[in-house]
Amino acid sequence: MNLSEREKKQILESIRDIPDFPKPGIIFKDITTLLNNPKAFKILMDHLEEHYKDAGIDYIAGAESRGFIFGAPLADRLGAGFVPIRKPGKLPFTTIAEKYSLEYGFDEVEIHIDAFSGKPNPKVLFIDDLIATGGTANASINLIKKAGAASVDACFIINLAFLKGIERLSADTTVYSVLDI
Ligand code: AMP
Repeated sequence: MNLSEREKKQILESIRDIPDFPKPGIIFKDITTLLNNPKAFKILMDHLEEHYKDAGIDYIAGAESRGFIFGAPLADRLGAGFVPIRKPGKLPFTTIAEKYSLEYGFDEVEIHIDAFSGKPNPKVLFIDDLIATGGTANASINLIKKAGAASVDACFIINLAFLKGIERLSADTTVYSVLDI
C-alpha cells in the first residue's frame, strides 16, 4: 500500500533541515524531529511494516547509527532478526570489513562474521535513514553479501535523488525509498 500524499507530507514536514551542518554547503536532514513526533513516526513504521510484511525478510541490517533506530523496530514488527553494521572497532566478536572511498580518504564498515548464520540462504533488508552518494549503502550491501546473504534489498527513509546514489547500488538490489527529495 502506498502512503497518501497527506501522510507523506506529515513525514516530510517532521524532518528538520539544518543548513551548513556538518560543513558549509550541506543541508543536513535531521530525523530527530521525526522520531520526536509520535504521529509521524507511527505513520512511517506502519507503512514500512505494510511494505515489507510479505517480502520474506529474514534479517534487517541497519547502518550505524540512524539505521539502527528504524531497523530494530521494523525487525521486531516483521519477526526478523536485527544485525548492526558498524564503524571499525565497535563490534566485539570476529568481524568482516569493507572499505570504501570518500571524497578524501577511506571509511570502513564491519559486520559480525556469523550475523546471518541462523538461517539458510537468508534474505536481508539493508536500511538507513538517508542515501546521498550511495557510498555507505554500496559498501554495506557488499559486506552483507560477503557475510552470506542470498539476496539483499535496500530501504531508505530519504533519497537525495539529485546525487543518484541508488544508481551506484548493484542492479540486483531492490531499492525502496519513502521520500525522494
Ligand atoms: P552516502 O554514503 O554519501 O550515501 O551518505 C549516506 C550516509 O551519510 C547516511 O548514513 C546518512 O545518514 C549520512 N548523510 C549523508 N548526507 C546527509 C544529509 N544531507 N543529511 C543527513 N544525513 C546525511
